[in-house]
Amino acid sequence: MNKKFTNNKDIVAAGKKYTMDTYGQYEVGMVKGEGSYLWDADGKKYIDLLQGVAVNALGHCYPDVVKATQEQAATLTQCANYFYIEPGVRLAKIIIENSCMDKVFFSNSGAESNEGAMKLARKYQKMQGHPERYEVISFKQSFHGRTLATLTATGQDKSHLGFDPLPAGFRYALLNDMESVKQEYNANTAAVIIEPVQGEGGVIPCTEEFLKELRAFCTEKDIVLIFDEVQVGCGRTGYLFAHQGYGVEPDVMTLAKALGNGIPVGAFCARGKFADVLKPGNHGTTYGGNPIATATAAAALTAIIENKLPERAQEMGAYLQERLNEMKKKHPVIKEVRGRGLIVGAVLDLEDAHVVTNPCFEKGLILNCTAGNVLRFVPALNIPKETLDDALEILEQVLTEIGK
Ligand SMILES: *Cc1c(COP(=O)(O)O)cnc(C)c1O
Repeated sequence: MNKKFTNNKDIVAAGKKYTMDTYGQYEVGMVKGEGSYLWDADGKKYIDLLQGVAVNALGHCYPDVVKATQEQAATLTQCANYFYIEPGVRLAKIIIENSCMDKVFFSNSGAESNEGAMKLARKYQKMQGHPERYEVISFKQSFHGRTLATLTATGQDKSHLGFDPLPAGFRYALLNDMESVKQEYNANTAAVIIEPVQGEGGVIPCTEEFLKELRAFCTEKDIVLIFDEVQVGCGRTGYLFAHQGYGVEPDVMTLAKALGNGIPVGAFCARGKFADVLKPGNHGTTYGGNPIATATAAAALTAIIENKLPERAQEMGAYLQERLNEMKKKHPVIKEVRGRGLIVGAVLDLEDAHVVTNPCFEKGLILNCTAGNVLRFVPALNIPKETLDDALEILEQVLTEIGK
């Protein structure tokens, strides 16, 4: 019954027959990963600049992380959250000692972390005697997840389509525009949720000036400032947490993606007076903070810190932007290059960047396009320079071949 599929054709056929068609997949079955490489079931090798969508900051199957998962799987796999769990407490200590945060709650995903953060904000406002403050301001082109509340917080119409009525209490401001935030603010505002660098929305960094003004505004109005660092936390932007590169401290920070380097785990952390808002019975999850997930994440985060991967993300990100800017001179299809650390976007003068990413895929390069026309580079933070060079050579070849 549980016989393995052994080639692309069989995997694709079974995938089409038995799984929901929500991703519009490439017609291959992936079976193995190592570092910055991925292999499909027919043995074709790919350079992976997507890494599980910005998840494997250490690349596929990083040995210390694999060891932590294996050892924990054979020791204690799942345990009710009615008890403290050793690896969970260990991971919490690592996060708190390396951030401005005071306490953490573990979840399973980014969306679940953002839900928890918004629950915390509403509860805080109720405790302050402001039950009318329930609204959350988010931003156009943002992405916060796929659950009903987080898809509503997501400021993109295409995420909302077909799912109304949407939960009440969400308003959308323009990124890097303080006047727009002030316009959306009212007596019902509980919180602002923002990505320091918008990922899915097309790799759009916040400006330092804007985040500083936003911080001051939220403090003045006593509204909870939530940073969604699900995609850009854990070293990606050149700092362990993205806000550290901005010199701005949020009240609540959410994490997931790179936290477990591929094992599902999320977290939301809170600071100061926000750290003890949630009380027994207010919030919970069965799997969140599960021993395997947290033992794995503790190993992953330790490897990111000890190997100084945030610094490496700064260096390699600068190199990547430089190379793309060179390419831009020869290939006018590249309109703009932007990003922070190793989340880099190349904006293309095309309606659909698949014209570029599909031929790259054929040539063995996995490169993502987001927001329609933006190439999003989110490689492993430890990607060897030569591998990145190989990837850029394929990209340049494709741009030349399509005459752009
Ligand atoms: C991926 C992502 C999410 C959702 O995370 P899931 O684990 O898919 O629920 C939320 N916010 C941001 C910024 C993301 O990039």
